[in-house]
Amino acid sequence: MTKTAFTSKKAPAFRDIPDEKWNDWRWQLSHRLNTVEDFEKLFPLTEGEKKALNSTSLFRVDVTPYFASLIDPDDPYDPIRRQVIPTEAEILPFTGMMEDSLAEDMHSPVPGLVHRYPDRVLMLITNTCASYCRYCTRSRLVGDPAQSFSSEDFEAQLDYLRSTPQVRDVLLSGGDPLTLAPKILERILRSLREIEHIEVIRIGSRVPVFMPQRITDDLTELLQQFHPLWLNIHVNHPNEITAELAEACDKLTRAGIPLGNQSVLLAGVNDDPYLMRRLVQDLVRIRVRPYYIYQCDLVEGAGHFRTPIARGMEIMEALRGHTSGFAVPTYVVDAPGGGGKIPLAPNYLLAMSDHKVVLRNFEGFITTYEEPLDYARPNPALTDPFKDAEIQGQEGVFSLLQGEKMVIKPEGFDALRLRGGKQHRLRQDEKKWKALGIGDPEQGADTPPGPTD
Ligand SMILES: *Cc1c(COP(=O)(O)O)cnc(C)c1O
Repeated sequence: MTKTAFTSKKAPAFRDIPDEKWNDWRWQLSHRLNTVEDFEKLFPLTEGEKKALNSTSLFRVDVTPYFASLIDPDDPYDPIRRQVIPTEAEILPFTGMMEDSLAEDMHSPVPGLVHRYPDRVLMLITNTCASYCRYCTRSRLVGDPAQSFSSEDFEAQLDYLRSTPQVRDVLLSGGDPLTLAPKILERILRSLREIEHIEVIRIGSRVPVFMPQRITDDLTELLQQFHPLWLNIHVNHPNEITAELAEACDKLTRAGIPLGNQSVLLAGVNDDPYLMRRLVQDLVRIRVRPYYIYQCDLVEGAGHFRTPIARGMEIMEALRGHTSGFAVPTYVVDAPGGGGKIPLAPNYLLAMSDHKVVLRNFEGFITTYEEPLDYARPNPALTDPFKDAEIQGQEGVFSLLQGEKMVIKPEGFDALRLRGGKQHRLRQDEKKWKALGIGDPEQGADTPPGPTD
């Protein structure tokens, strides 16, 4: 594998556009392509693409001239083309398809705010993007002017955050926060920074990829006032890593912003172990750390992009150990129905017995780790100051290990197990179930704390 220089392209149709305009993000935004005529100036469309572009029911189409120029005009299967130009397949339903597959709307305490994890929230602050990914998880909201967020929504989001001290990390997304007018973005960042318990602000943005021209010195100067500020970009294929993207990332990192990348595993775009290895290696060359690879969500319009999970596992097998550890992202399935991200990785733990663990490495080398016979947990005086008392109710499997609970049960579990009979007998056994810490069967899922030791 040879190291390639990151190249820039300007499609022949834009040859006469002076660099001054081409490099101006405002020109890029106002000249986005979205019709059959626009795209056919660059390359002939397939019948399926034309049909999709002429359909009125589709999620919004827009592609910056910069990003469209990265498409190989002779390849109808070009991986960049597939990401942004709709095809007929987008109209087809599939088994398991949902409009809001992550149940974000249901888990919003106020519009646009998703508080799913104990200490961090997702804040949707715009529904505009520089270009629209055809597999978008939020195609139900994004690109639709009727769905835009108002300043009342924003005030309600801030009120929630002010009164929820457990939130220490706010992730700004949308839509794409870097498409907002700088004044509005600044106001949002400033308001968040005024909330003392918010430690970290994160931005999720594909602007550096779709429109690297937007990463101006003015923008990085604005952003760096709000540290610690982290930013995740979204690159799916090595062809997206251009000289322009490298320069934009360089500006952001020089402004002290740590950069991560989130990819989505997409059939026909990046569903290959060797391709993914090249991608993560090219990312670290521009100082972007691969963060997540997402399994494609069960969202309308994205059926043709889905791969089996086995393909993702094969990719992870090809990454861990085969390339730099910091180039290896975590592969996650964002739980349908709203359980959050679930990490999946090949199994390196082969067997365990008393004080012996059998492990394998990426090459299949098998080894034994001998565990200590005399391990004592740390003294509570050392660890108690770090216990987080504010986060209640989401301790999950960890609380089983801590001995705070003995079981986790689905709602209605106990009532169902009684099957209408045996209440009286169980009542007699009250002592027994209390001792077990499995809760009053008559109270359904409510489980009192179990024995502490
Ligand atoms: C992805 C996501 C986050 C952030 O998760 P991390 O694993 O911390 O990156 C937070 N909230 C929601 C709703 C998310 O989907």
